[in-house]
Amino acid sequence: MPGFELFGDLERKEVNDVLDNGVLMRYGFDGMRNGHWKAKELEGELSKTFNTNHVQLVSSGTAAVSVALASAGVGAGDEVIMPTFTFVASFEAIMMLGAIPVLVDIDDTLTLNPKAVEAAITPKTKAVMVVQMCGSMGDLDALQTICNSNNLLLVEDACQAIGGTYNGKPLGSIGDLGCFSFDFVKTITCGEGGAVITNNNDYYVNADHYSDHGHDHIGNDRGAETHPFLGYNFRISELHAAVGLAQVKRLPEFIAIQKKHYLILREALEVIPEVTFRRVPKGGEESYAFLNFFLPNIEIARKVIEAFKANGVDVCWNYFDNNWHYVRKWNHLKDKKSLFPLSAEIEQGLENIKNTTYDQSDHFIGRNISCLIKMSWTEDEVKTRASKMVSSINSALL
Ligand SMILES: *Cc1c(COP(=O)(O)O)cnc(C)c1O
Repeated sequence: MPGFELFGDLERKEVNDVLDNGVLMRYGFDGMRNGHWKAKELEGELSKTFNTNHVQLVSSGTAAVSVALASAGVGAGDEVIMPTFTFVASFEAIMMLGAIPVLVDIDDTLTLNPKAVEAAITPKTKAVMVVQMCGSMGDLDALQTICNSNNLLLVEDACQAIGGTYNGKPLGSIGDLGCFSFDFVKTITCGEGGAVITNNNDYYVNADHYSDHGHDHIGNDRGAETHPFLGYNFRISELHAAVGLAQVKRLPEFIAIQKKHYLILREALEVIPEVTFRRVPKGGEESYAFLNFFLPNIEIARKVIEAFKANGVDVCWNYFDNNWHYVRKWNHLKDKKSLFPLSAEIEQGLENIKNTTYDQSDHFIGRNISCLIKMSWTEDEVKTRASKMVSSINSALL
């Protein structure tokens, strides 16, 4: 990660195909487009990649989460359970529909603790959203069981875990609906873009229509299409899809490079007894987009981050002090800083978040360090990085 590191001729060729006829829109203009349907083609490729019947491309990963939830009928006043450690997109996408984000603790998988999920279920709960953070996954069997027995949707935000698997199945394809982002810093990028995947035909048809103003996409006269229900515009453009089409074909190559670099770093860190690694559930294989490890306590974790900085080890973070990914610093959310009035139900939900402490999450995020795995590093660079990481950690442990 990220895919832009290896941007090249394939991406240029696909984009030029689009520029040659100038149809930048994914629907219509059949006569002008000279056979180029980049978004449709990318949906076909992704369907193979994820071994899933249906794929709907949209304009971003955040849009993918909103479209997934909307397609399954989640809306005003419904509660969606999500983890305290994720990207801000998770609660944004839920609140956009008038639904209420309910934040619960994570565990050593760095995502939802199934016990915390169970404790948070109320009669208003409609969905559980597991966020497969930093290239790995939650306890999907346990979460699936909870969802089945409580009649809840399981939605996977797999934006950071493309290429990871669980019991041989691609992450994103296990829940009722899966969401991906192809923004500029993800493992494969479109510049901006996202996808909803599902095996449920009704959800797919809903996602297809909803993401394009409710258009039914029947026939080839856009102006004559009817609107079976209300929609919105979350379309991807052909230019963006073209970049993604080149990138998705390279996914196996990207994952192999990530894995090679990840293993060099992991093997070096494994010799330090104080370092433990994030738990990957049995049957799971990471996408190797990040290496995540724990230190004995937050003071040492902070010292390690300082030592990394001093030794030139970049792209490693402790998310406890981070504004984007962890509930502790989401003051705009807790203080309800909205440009427009929020519903009374959402206001109450946000009040609950403000008044809740997340001790278990603090325990794991405080001690965690998450290192991005770059694909553009040479093997020598990875080895030098590994030895700098080991010496930095050892110095922080003194
Ligand atoms: C990147 C990301 C998103 C949002 O994707 P955008 O395409 O940037 O809107 C959502 N969830 C997670 C976990 C992400 O990492």
